[in-house]
Amino acid sequence: MATTKIPRILLIYTGGTIGMIENAVNHALEPFDFDHLIDNVPKIKMLGYEIEHVQFATPIDSSSMNPKHWGEIAEVIERHYDSVDGFVVLHGTDTMAYTASALSFMLENLRKPVIITGSQLPIGEVRTDGEENLITALQIAAATDAGGRPMVREVAILFEHHLWRGNRCIKRSADNFDAFKSNNYPELASIGLGIHFNRASLWRNDSRNMPLKVQYEMDDNLVMLDLFPGISRKVVEHVLNAPGLKGVVMKSFGAGNAPADEWFLDAVRQTVERGIVVVNITQCPNGCVHPQLYAAGLNLAKVGVVSGRDMTSEAAITKLMYLFGRGLSPDKVKEYLNMPLRGEMSAV
Ligand code: ASP
Repeated sequence: MATTKIPRILLIYTGGTIGMIENAVNHALEPFDFDHLIDNVPKIKMLGYEIEHVQFATPIDSSSMNPKHWGEIAEVIERHYDSVDGFVVLHGTDTMAYTASALSFMLENLRKPVIITGSQLPIGEVRTDGEENLITALQIAAATDAGGRPMVREVAILFEHHLWRGNRCIKRSADNFDAFKSNNYPELASIGLGIHFNRASLWRNDSRNMPLKVQYEMDDNLVMLDLFPGISRKVVEHVLNAPGLKGVVMKSFGAGNAPADEWFLDAVRQTVERGIVVVNITQCPNGCVHPQLYAAGLNLAKVGVVSGRDMTSEAAITKLMYLFGRGLSPDKVKEYLNMPLRGEMSAV
């Protein structure tokens, strides 16, 4: 880690367990303010960084997160982009993988670290994981390579002993400190006595020396359809005929397989014919959609469903929001779905 100057980091506090305290009456955890959070991590000063902070007017439980909030985070990043070395976003764990995925698309030409972290236990608790996560996230946001350039130039999630690519992650545990995992992509760094970056897996986009550009518009005319044996015709048809629908993330079985029932394939075919983009994502946490492997997967490809390959459903839905948000036609959206834009899927 080369340190030539005092790192300047912007801390963005959106809410989540990390900053929560217990309501004295009903004992439920509720978001609290930034000062409470910082007061509980006096060690931050030992880093010797210049740390500025911005907080949501009302910190939220991340289950209330929505594209407007993503826009608020992106706007803060855009406003401070030239004046700081990196960003740490404090966020609830519940929708952290969605926010990380969304920001990875919205922040076009990003070349500075945006490290998202939070915790499973509030920072005021004796056994909190929040202190370590926050400190490590700040160190990663400040890390530079031998040339003094940011080590991380993408949106990433730091949790416990791992740094993951943000759009490759899922929240895998509601209990464990090791709450996040990227099942289809290696960790960007492992955290032990030191922070060990896995340089081969870090995102590099240096050939295009373009300024940061934020795509604020995210289209929400989308649905995620999780298949299960026995899913009813009336429910499927109702969902696929929702007014204004533009895209569907279909969560299929195994290598991308779906029921071979005629009514089902007809409903999907008609949806695609109406110009709605349907993306096939596997329900398996690990692995990839292989439409040619089984007749049951080929059926979907034949009716015009696009393979989402090894994307997480969080990445797929936010990628659709972003692409439709850019005002692209369904054909263009399909074209971009087939290529990795921010390392969110493996290249063929
Ligand atoms: N419900 C909380 C949130 O997502 C959980 C957490 O932060 O771990 O805001």
